[in-house]
Amino acid sequence: MNIILLGPPGAGKGTQARRLVESRDMVQLSTGDMLRAARMSGTELGDKVAAIMDAGGLVTDEIVIGLIEEQLTTTTAPGGFIFDGFPRTLAQADALGNLLERTGQRLDRVIAMEVDDEALVQRITARSTCAGCGEVYNDLTKPIPADGKCENCGGDSFKRRADDNEESLKKRLLEYYKKTSPLIGYYYAKGLLSTVNGLGSIDEVADAIAAALDDG
Ligand code: AMP
Repeated sequence: MNIILLGPPGAGKGTQARRLVESRDMVQLSTGDMLRAARMSGTELGDKVAAIMDAGGLVTDEIVIGLIEEQLTTTTAPGGFIFDGFPRTLAQADALGNLLERTGQRLDRVIAMEVDDEALVQRITARSTCAGCGEVYNDLTKPIPADGKCENCGGDSFKRRADDNEESLKKRLLEYYKKTSPLIGYYYAKGLLSTVNGLGSIDEVADAIAAALDDG
């Protein structure tokens, strides 16, 4: 089963994608993670996208489509792919459709995660991740354990994303509403859309996603 997790920054796409990887043997394809990895390893691509990412803008369609194409043609995923943070524009959505067709696959479902703007700001400015395994924590809803060790891998180093600040978040939200939210109508028209309330606990949202995937 190949699915898209669609939603604004802070909706919980990454957290829920990790759940699905564990529970359904799926492979998470996050263009944000790929771009951050390119920056960390100091590649030419990483240098090219750094300023755009920090400012909260979208990198070019060409770059992210290239990253996804590389993964789709080299990775096997027995349980299917979870597209997390991709597509973010109509051009990317068209390109994904073509890529899947070319590789003999199809898109099975698109999960739109709804969270109101105030909650997004609160979630994002309180968020941190484990440097070792990427487990997501939140000062308010899921604080780092009292012993300072990640509950998933035991690591003791945590980081905040450079673009998780109020200034950059404003731009990311604007980009979402201008360029990404039209995808909700696009996938509705294709009969692939399921909407879940992203405001509940991590378990509640995971259950709602499971129901959408299993019942269609
Ligand atoms: P994310 O981790 O998905 O929030 O992505 C972090 C940043 O990476 C975004 O704010 C964009 O600058 C860039 N990015 C990630 N995915 C895409 C995409 N599909 N299209 C354009 N830019 C992207």
